[in-house]
Amino acid sequence: MNDLISIRFDDIDPASPLIIAGPCSAETPEQVLTTARQLACKGIKIFRAGIWKPRTKPGGFEGLGAPALPWLKRVKEETGMYTATEVANRRHVREAVEAGIDMLWVGARTSANPFAMQEIADTLAEVASPDMPILVKNPVNADIELWVGALQRLYNAGFRRLGAIHRGFTVYGSHLYRNEPQWNIPVELRLRLPNLPIICDPSHIGGMRELVGPISQQALDMGFDGLIIETHCDPDHAWSDARQQVTPEVLSCILDTLVIRDARQATESLATLRRQIDTLDNELLDILSRRMEISREIGRYKKEHSMPVVQSNRFNDIIRSRVAMGSQMGMSAEFLHDVLLAIHDESVRQQIEILNDNKPLTPEPEK
Ligand code: PEP
Ligand code: MN
Repeated sequence: MNDLISIRFDDIDPASPLIIAGPCSAETPEQVLTTARQLACKGIKIFRAGIWKPRTKPGGFEGLGAPALPWLKRVKEETGMYTATEVANRRHVREAVEAGIDMLWVGARTSANPFAMQEIADTLAEVASPDMPILVKNPVNADIELWVGALQRLYNAGFRRLGAIHRGFTVYGSHLYRNEPQWNIPVELRLRLPNLPIICDPSHIGGMRELVGPISQQALDMGFDGLIIETHCDPDHAWSDARQQVTPEVLSCILDTLVIRDARQATESLATLRRQIDTLDNELLDILSRRMEISREIGRYKKEHSMPVVQSNRFNDIIRSRVAMGSQMGMSAEFLHDVLLAIHDESVRQQIEILNDNKPLTPEPEK
């Protein structure tokens, strides 16, 4: 996919981040038009609104479907903004293209489904101009192959104005983020497909409006090409995703305070890479501390069952399998051995602390 073409429209500044904003869902003509007018006043050029809403469970607001499409047409006529909506099947594609929508995106539940992706790609090839810009959100599960595969289906159907949207990944349980960013995945996508623009969706990653600004800054720091931010004229009363939507006024403040880095500068791209390293190091520390917590849990089990802390078979198996796996990932066996041994030593130390009722192994000297 080396011959991708920009997803930007001609009158959009190629040097600044591409900003797409608008409500999670189109609810009423008034809500759509009011939000769009306010966004246009703030200089936003691309308006998003969900017409068909994939809801996890039945009973939520599922979007108004085709009857809401003319509202987007009005947004375009009245404000001059480009319009974007989500498509998930053949009928959506036909209706959205027929209604003159300028840009389409495929949602996270759909990009995880190769049958749906193929149906969308085939229908687009039939009814849309090859100039149509199409964005693909990451699949809900953290599978980069599925994400790349979804993009490839559109590429194979003749589309070159493609982009990716990073909206985070589902993990079980409650966490700070609604969808875990796992930044290493979009970073890997960038390395694999350097010409593919990547847009961050801080609204769906964070799940709450307070996180929209910080996540947006992090994305720009990491060299993302733009942001898609859910914006509503009355967020607290939104029919879907109320917690994460901001007003056009707040959006404008967020955008004004973002530090935009010029990735084209050599020093700046170095800084971008360093920030990626910082993020990965933080993730590494987080993973290590979670691993240690599990070790301590095992320590408590061993204590209860009077088992020895070190079980050499298990240790040898761990080292052998991990060294083999890591070697396949391009790291030296010696390095892997040292790292795994150090991790194992620290796990043992923590388990022995548990056996000693949390007394540190080397007590502090008395003062
Ligand atoms: C959306 O953009 O409103 C949406 C449904 O997003 P996602 O597919 O990321 O859940
Ligand atoms: Mn939403």
